[in-house]
Amino acid sequence: MRRIRDSQPDRPVSLPAVGTLVNEPAFAELVREHGRARVVEAIRAQIAAERDDGADGSARYAAVAARLQAGVTPKLRRVINASGVVLHTNLGRAPLSKSAIDALSVAAGYSNLELDLETGKRGERSSLAAGLLTALFGCEAASVVNNNAAAVLLALTALCKGKEVIVSRGQLVEIGGAFRMPDVMRLSGARMVEVGTTNRTRAADYEDAITSRTAALLRVHTSNFRVTGFTESATLGQLAEVAKRHGVLLIDDLGSGATEAIGDEPTVAESLQHCDVVTFSGDKLLGGPQAGIVLGHSEAITKMSRHPLARAVRVDKLTLAALEATLSQRLTGHADDIPIERMLHAPVEDVRRRAAMWSVKLAERGVETRLVESSSAVGGGSLPEHALPTVLLAVIGPASRLVAALRRGAPPVIARVENDQCCVDPRTVLKGEDETLIDVVEVAAASIRR
Ligand SMILES: *Cc1c(COP(=O)(O)O)cnc(C)c1O
Repeated sequence: MRRIRDSQPDRPVSLPAVGTLVNEPAFAELVREHGRARVVEAIRAQIAAERDDGADGSARYAAVAARLQAGVTPKLRRVINASGVVLHTNLGRAPLSKSAIDALSVAAGYSNLELDLETGKRGERSSLAAGLLTALFGCEAASVVNNNAAAVLLALTALCKGKEVIVSRGQLVEIGGAFRMPDVMRLSGARMVEVGTTNRTRAADYEDAITSRTAALLRVHTSNFRVTGFTESATLGQLAEVAKRHGVLLIDDLGSGATEAIGDEPTVAESLQHCDVVTFSGDKLLGGPQAGIVLGHSEAITKMSRHPLARAVRVDKLTLAALEATLSQRLTGHADDIPIERMLHAPVEDVRRRAAMWSVKLAERGVETRLVESSSAVGGGSLPEHALPTVLLAVIGPASRLVAALRRGAPPVIARVENDQCCVDPRTVLKGEDETLIDVVEVAAASIRR
């Protein structure tokens, strides 16, 4: 129990008992709405706060109501990503396209999720996106799970459990949020056989490690870091030769799933050319919802789909709907309608024009800014060294206070500090968000001046 500190005897000590307060008529409505127990808890917290700041309790009712309201308001809010990081992990990676968002409402009601409308028989949910995936990537078979971590775990469990999997020491990666390859391997029941060194692993290292217990060679894309200098790694083509010679699988955890060449990122097409199973995320470079995409040879994919773990990591219907819409856009030549495609490909001159337009509008509202040449990042653990040239708008003023004020805006604007300046990057701001962003910047700048 907290006590009133007697070191400050001049403070009001006439704090009423919570049990008495909650019975006051003023609180009756809140009790009806939120239940007695929660109101008691909120009153207790409010009185403790009043005690700490020496408040007199005159605003107590409103404060308690606000506390209760805050407790029932969903925490997830739309934010404007002005950080310049396209696939911002903290901001939900890829924003969905308009048609993917529309598709969510189809799946939200009843749908033919697992019903074949032709035959009236039970259908397979993962077959929904499979046709689009095989068409888009030109592979034999496809399936979709919850995320790429699940895809890797399922591949190793269904195809390699109790057997050995050979992986380079240079590829024992950790992806944000505790996805560590050795841990995933252990969890799958496959035995990890490490070969090579941190900086150099050759095809012969894999071949020398193959035994009768080997199920697969695993390539893990070192998506979120680069080793430079004295390095060597086996190409997928070389690994495929080794795998074929010994009758073992070649599995590729591709990570980002680039559909076309960007920076030094390996592409899905190249990977499919050589591997039996390829996995990557739906919400990185594909620009769709969180999902784990699995592509490859029918036999392996079928084995994965039939494994009991597949049910535990299955994809949900909202995701499938958004993924189908995204894939369909890519198949029909409308990839430009996928937000991250626009962001990744926007010419720097377009970004500059947008920054300049914001600058003019803000000047009209008395907010001083300047344009700064800089670069945006792909993010999401993809292409760590691939910088996209950009033009930032720096808001003149105390940087960290401005960034915090923008973050508390309505909606929150996520800016970044660069060279001690609060900067917003037009590259990652969605189409149609310009006016809102300008309003939030204006309010934030005014709040600092006060
Ligand atoms: C991002 C990534 C993962 C994890 O994918 P999620 O979709 O976040 O589960 C696994 N492996 C690699 C190489 C990655 O880049």
